[in-house]
Amino acid sequence: MLSLPQHIKTLFLLHIIMSIFFDIHKPYSVGMLDKLTDHPTGTDAPHRAMCTDCGISRTSKPERCGKACQFIKPNYPKLEKQVHGRIRNASLQPDEAFFGPFLSMHRAGLKRHREGAQWTGITSEIGKRLLESGKVDAVIAVKPHELDRWKPQPVLVTDPEEMKHCRGMRMGYAPSLALLEPAIEAGHKRIAFIGIPCQVYALRSLEKELGLERLYVIGTPCSDNTTTANFHQFLALLSEQPETINYLEFRADYKVELRFDDGRRQEIPFLKLPISKLPGDFFPLTCQTCVDYTNSLADITVGYMAGEGDQWLIVRNERGAELLALLNDDLETKPLRSSGKRRKHVEGFKANVENSVNGLPLRTMPEFVRPIVAWLMPKIGPKGLEFARTRVEMKAVETILHLRRKQPAKVKNLVPEHVWNLAESYGLSKSDHE
Ligand SMILES: Cc1cc2nc3c(=O)[nH]c(=O)nc-3n(C[C@H](O)[C@H](O)[C@H](O)COP(=O)(O)OP(=O)(O)OC[C@H]3O[C@@H](n4cnc5c(N)ncnc54)[C@H](O)[C@@H]3O)c2cc1C
Ligand code: SF4
Ligand code: SF4
Repeated sequence: MLSLPQHIKTLFLLHIIMSIFFDIHKPYSVGMLDKLTDHPTGTDAPHRAMCTDCGISRTSKPERCGKACQFIKPNYPKLEKQVHGRIRNASLQPDEAFFGPFLSMHRAGLKRHREGAQWTGITSEIGKRLLESGKVDAVIAVKPHELDRWKPQPVLVTDPEEMKHCRGMRMGYAPSLALLEPAIEAGHKRIAFIGIPCQVYALRSLEKELGLERLYVIGTPCSDNTTTANFHQFLALLSEQPETINYLEFRADYKVELRFDDGRRQEIPFLKLPISKLPGDFFPLTCQTCVDYTNSLADITVGYMAGEGDQWLIVRNERGAELLALLNDDLETKPLRSSGKRRKHVEGFKANVENSVNGLPLRTMPEFVRPIVAWLMPKIGPKGLEFARTRVEMKAVETILHLRRKQPAKVKNLVPEHVWNLAESYGLSKSDHE
């Protein structure tokens, strides 16, 4: 049994360690977007300071960015009402404060894992089945670029068998919405879109003027994205043969999983990642300050954070339920669980972001402590839904702190109420000019 002073010392050490631990997978400062040389419409994207090149600026009406962009003046309540018929309501279901409106949430996986999928392949399989069933004529998704498997290449899929080429997560920005005009011009009136939150925000803003008969949106959560070029720098720090890495995931058990072309797998605890070696502009401000981690405007969100090793589905409306039903014969579900307490972790994370120099994390943990904490974290950290809530709250805190530091004038327009609500209990409230 630990004596009281020993106990306090251990807790103190753990507190410091946690705060450092939770800051290592985060974006830290402003960067530039990849200049894509091959994209759906063959036009260059006009440069904007905050832009993830969702594709709207490459269409025939780039001025629509003013209305569509998440990084100008987003209006989540308006779009939640438009898409789901109501805004998020924490008194109805407390988790809506974190994850947005939903009908149901599930821990799930496909019985037969699809080869090449990021998890079990639910996302791409929904696209395939939409095409097979004739519910849509085309799916807009991304596939690996033929010269760089990590670079997302937008693609318009009409053959269900082609959806298998879209499996897997790519790091980087895909101008997928630039494919809307070619899809509509080709006569497709029923379309599915698979994408990340900033793309989905723009799509929903413009949905009414597209004249589609039907639109299904399958969203994934997204956080800490960066340019594909930057991502290659990260891979180069993880392996002597980075070109042989074909899979990477930040798992909910606090480890990064890598897979290699020769079949090897490697797990690296978050704490042992070489984050301090990344350049200061590794993460663009867009992704440091993103306000919709869980893709709240999708019909169904397919992620993993609350899944404890399985996938995590958020069915948001009737269309989402229709999409889930497409998988009925092949889907295994389990009840979602929740354990641990997030508060200390989010507080420690906030302190670390506040103390970071020029947006870069402080690395004060002694080397010898790292393996112990790396071993400890999966055992004592928040799990299941509490892990997902932890990450969403951290993101809310980080958004406000980074915007205040780097673009204070934008806080007023860019930070929605749902983010303030999450950050408030950590001492972050709107000032008069925010
Ligand atoms: C940059 C990024 C960060 C993510 N971060 C998280 C996270 O923090 N927490 C979490 O729970 N989930 C996150 N996800 C989602 C997660 O990685 C899986 O994609 C998701 O759980 C679906 O797995 P799956 O096996 O069903 O997908 P698959 O069946 O393998 O299909 C993957 C689908 O993702 C699409 N896709 C891949 N890369 C991109 C891209 N760069 N841009 C747009 N679409 C893309 C493809 O079109 C494809 O249809 C992230 C995804 C991305 C792209
Ligand atoms: S709408 Fe899309 S293309 Fe336009 S500025 Fe925003 S992210 Fe960039
Ligand atoms: S983190 Fe946010 S802004 Fe960055 S790519 Fe993902 S959804 Fe877009």
